Amino acid sequence: MERQIETMRETPHWSYSAFNTYLTCPMRYYFRYIEHAEVERTSISIPFGRAFHMVLSDRARKGTSYTIQDAKEDFAVYFRGETEVSENLTYKPDEDYWFWDKRGCDMLEVALAEWPDDYTVKSVAEAFSVDVPGLSKPLVGEFDLVTVDGGDETICDWKTASMKWPNGKADRDLQATTFCYAYQKKYGTNPVFRFDVFTKGQKPAHHQFYTLRSHDDFERFVFLAGKIEKAVNTGIFLPVESCMNCAECAYGSRCKAVHRKVA
Ligand code: SF4
Repeated sequence: MERQIETMRETPHWSYSAFNTYLTCPMRYYFRYIEHAEVERTSISIPFGRAFHMVLSDRARKGTSYTIQDAKEDFAVYFRGETEVSENLTYKPDEDYWFWDKRGCDMLEVALAEWPDDYTVKSVAEAFSVDVPGLSKPLVGEFDLVTVDGGDETICDWKTASMKWPNGKADRDLQATTFCYAYQKKYGTNPVFRFDVFTKGQKPAHHQFYTLRSHDDFERFVFLAGKIEKAVNTGIFLPVESCMNCAECAYGSRCKAVHRKVA
């Protein structure tokens, strides 16, 4: 069955990912969202993260009856499926499919052992589509998990990461702002936001980061979103070259040649 979010994505829209891509590198935004260029490489971390995420959704839906054995079996199926549809998959030296298959199982051991069940699940993989003042297209996305605990409603977002997040990252993160804004538009309540970050090192770990957003943060988000749409409509797609940005970029060759096409 097609997920509701997939249907929403079939019509013109904005997303957190599109905003973030533009802010990170407008040229990359152009290749991905305007040109829809073929990716030159897909890091194994992409299908790995998707498969891990799907297992966590299953755990959230099925509750305590979902065992670690179920999780590992489902992960094997999802990971195989995700890698098979990934274009030009790349691994780091000394890593292969089975390295990540094993690492996924190790991370699931941690995730399920530390799974918090002391709240009510309101929704899992809940799609949203909201209007943002000044934008010509709706903002769409999906809340991984929404929980209710007493009077608090919390959006939880699952992440896999190479290392533990630094202090303060969650408080500056645009995804938390975008999703809290959308939730507030949808339900009229400003929620708590929690990142559940699972590290992919030799000793996987789970860290939770709570954060809140204010009315002023929402106004700033609306301002920023409007500026991005204006810049896109004006055709401003500058490359932002840096080691961090370009090392894993899926459009490296295309980017290197782009000035020759326009010269
Ligand atoms: S190679 Fe670097 S500058 Fe070029 S699109 Fe990718 S991230 Fe941007």
